[in-house]
Amino acid sequence: MESLRIPGPTPCPEEVLQAMARQMINHRGPEYDRIIGQVTDNLKQLFQTEGDVFLLTASGTGGLEAAVVNTLSPGDKVLSVTIGVFGERFGTIARQFGAEVVPLSFEWGTAADADEVRRALKADPQIKAVLVTHNETSTGVTNDLAALSAAVKEFDKLLLVDAISSLGSIDLPVDKWQCDITVTASQKGWMVPPGMAMVSVSQKAWQAYAEAKMPRFYWDFKAAKSYLEKGQNPWTPAVSIVFALQVALEMMLKEGLANIAARHARVSQAAREGAKSLGLPLFADEKHASDTVTAIAATGGLDTKKLIKIVREEHQIVLAGGQQSLDGRIFRIGHLGWVTEDDIAAVMTALKTALPKAGFSGAK
Ligand SMILES: *Cc1c(COP(=O)(O)O)cnc(C)c1O
Repeated sequence: MESLRIPGPTPCPEEVLQAMARQMINHRGPEYDRIIGQVTDNLKQLFQTEGDVFLLTASGTGGLEAAVVNTLSPGDKVLSVTIGVFGERFGTIARQFGAEVVPLSFEWGTAADADEVRRALKADPQIKAVLVTHNETSTGVTNDLAALSAAVKEFDKLLLVDAISSLGSIDLPVDKWQCDITVTASQKGWMVPPGMAMVSVSQKAWQAYAEAKMPRFYWDFKAAKSYLEKGQNPWTPAVSIVFALQVALEMMLKEGLANIAARHARVSQAAREGAKSLGLPLFADEKHASDTVTAIAATGGLDTKKLIKIVREEHQIVLAGGQQSLDGRIFRIGHLGWVTEDDIAAVMTALKTALPKAGFSGAK
């Protein structure tokens, strides 16, 4: 079997897969009521929030769209802080629904600078909300969300966070860092197949909701809230994914949030040290290197596409390439969710033999 070392979908433990094989239940019946209550309570613990948390049957991008359409109106000015592909996607969604998007882009591979955010908010008092990616999966960089949030909250703006590849893996105290909407998705650090976005909603976000006029139906948070009070979702949920999530969340709480974060820190350290010891340069600014995905720059004649193919065919390990302008310029190792140091050691063993075959002649 292939070992999936991409930043989502991530491998699922056997217990989680078994849960998916269960017979269907009535999604408007008492058992579902009990399960969704338990899943939501457990998610609140892992989000470190006392606000609302909703399950949306969607991939992560659906959650990002929900964040936008539930809090903004066409014509609203939004500061879109981007450090890579997913930051740009968040801004594109807002623009698509009629927001006036003010981009604040940083060089790919680096983190966003909170002082630049301050400057941008000071320069334009009309800005209503700030879009931020916590962990930019395309470049392997984690933003200092606490610092960015402090800047955003100095100006009392709404903070919408793409935490799709960080929440549940990297410490993100949603309430403490005053995230108004926080979005994640089942197939990243949660050890669950794709199909569910999970979002938190703060009091301030509800105030924004009351005035927000962007069109929405499927994503309506009010519908999500009123149905959740009855132990249901407004629309038929991906029931099997909820079963899987129930099991995965129990496993996560048993391991404990601090232990999970520490494991991801250790594993990412092993990935970075391993890459460097093979003479491979990291793409991301190491001060902000992600604990969930490591991006490695192609140098020394390395053909990343060839490398990925060889590692998959000869070592049954699936690595990720670069997206958009990073295509062919980097490759990425996903290490989020169900991952240990042994998985990284296996990647390094594979790279060691595959690198010369993929044209790599050593560090330049
Ligand atoms: C994976 C990812 C997305 C996109 O999520 P989908 O589930 O593919 O829609 C968005 N943002 C980040 C940071 C991601 O890692």
